[in-house]
This record gives sequence, structure tokens and C-alpha cells, in this order.
Amino acid sequence: MSTQTLAIYFTFWSAILGSVIGSFLCCVVSRRQSGESVLRGRSHCEACGHVLRVLDLMPVVSYIVCRGRCRYCGVKIPPACLMAELGGAVVYAGVVFRFGLSWDVLMWLAAGTLLLALSLIDGAERIIPDGLLLSLAVNRLLFFVLFHGSLGKELLSMLGGVLIIPPAMLGLTLAMDKVMGKETMGGGDIKLMFVLGMYMDWKKMFLTIFISCLLGLAWAVAGKIFHKDGHPDGAIAFGPFLCMGCLAAVSFGDPFIEWYLNLF
Ligand SMILES: [Zn+2]
Repeated sequence: MSTQTLAIYFTFWSAILGSVIGSFLCCVVSRRQSGESVLRGRSHCEACGHVLRVLDLMPVVSYIVCRGRCRYCGVKIPPACLMAELGGAVVYAGVVFRFGLSWDVLMWLAAGTLLLALSLIDGAERIIPDGLLLSLAVNRLLFFVLFHGSLGKELLSMLGGVLIIPPAMLGLTLAMDKVMGKETMGGGDIKLMFVLGMYMDWKKMFLTIFISCLLGLAWAVAGKIFHKDGHPDGAIAFGPFLCMGCLAAVSFGDPFIEWYLNLF
């Protein structure tokens, strides 16, 4: 098998694994909301209680075949489930394709899973749990301590990621809050920026903010177009866009940053 075929093979199976993880996380988040235990009880429809069979549990495929409804009672399955499954597939495939067989791939698979869970919870509850932020920080520190390359270079990059853009965004947010007389960005979003800063240098952190603002703006505009009064569930959660911005910047940011710096 050529290296390229092998890369495609691994990427494909990573996408499948990612969609299964996404499906599981969606279940965890919905059980968290309904107060059910995650560990007990088989997967079932939340409306009719029917236990789901293998055919109902295939990520993405089941949703499309059943047109987003329960096969037994016809109740609508939240689109967030499909988004979680697709998101998981994209994150896992993207990370494996970008990092190949390396320690970095393990760190980013763990980070990607935490970011997906964080996005689902923020999207559903407008909360970014501190436990997830702490897990992200610990994951980064663990890989930094155990598998760092050039210690000085990596430490400098991490400090740059944490100490330049996130404090600037904190200052900007506080100023905006004062001018607008209301909270413009949640405290959880700011904390998330600091944690994401640990994973990249300041240039990629800047790109992360840039991409997430563009995505958030596109989402807000789409809300205005498709729903007269904006998105039906009110204020937009910014956490998921930060996570998407981070993963995009880390996966595809290098050529973009190089091109931008060459303009000057
Ligand atoms: Zn049902």
C-alpha cells in the first residue's frame, strides 16, 4: 500500500470513529440535560422510550434514512445530533490527516473530543463547563511535559498564544461591555480563549479569533435571513465558533499565515 493510500485509509476510518464519538457525546449531553444517568440504560428514543437497534444507531446514515425522525413514533430528532456526528467525523478525519502518526495526533484527538463536547453543551445550554476547560488545559500540559520537542521554542510559543491575543480580547470585551452597557461576550468564551492559546502560537490564535468571528457573523446573518427575528433560540453561543476557528487554524492555518506575512 502506498503512503498516500494508507493516509486516505486512516483518514476514512478516523471519520467513522469520529462520527460514533460525536453520536455518543450528543447522547451524553442530552442525558445531562434531562438528568438521566449516562452509564445506565440502553440508547432509547427520548419521546417514546423505544430501545434503539443497531440500524437506528448508525451515525449520520440513520438520521438521513429516517429523515431526522424516530422510526417508531415519528418525533423529530434534534438537528444537533446530526451536527455532532458530522462534526466528530470532520474533527477526527481532519486531525489524523493533518498530524499523521505522531504524539500530536493523540493530543489533538483528545482536544477535539473535548472541544466537540464543549460546543454541544454551549450550543444547548449557553454554558462552558469549567471541568471541560480544565481538562483541555491538563491535556495540553500533559503532552507538553511528556512529548515536547524543543522546550524553549515550544514554551515561548505557548506563552505567546496565551499572553498576547486572549488578554487583548479580554480588554476589548470589557471596553465593549462598558460602551454597550451589557455583557457582549460570556466569561466562558474568554476563559476558552486563554485555554486555546495554550495550544498554538499567537499568529494561529489571531487566525482562530478571525475565523470564529467570520463564522459567528455568517451564522447570525443566516439567522436573520431564515428567521425574521434572528435565531429562534436567541443569543448565539460563541463557544462552538471558537472551537471551529481553532481546529481550522491549526489544520489549515500555516499556508494562510505564510501567505499573509509575505504580503508585507
Ligand atoms: Zn420515538
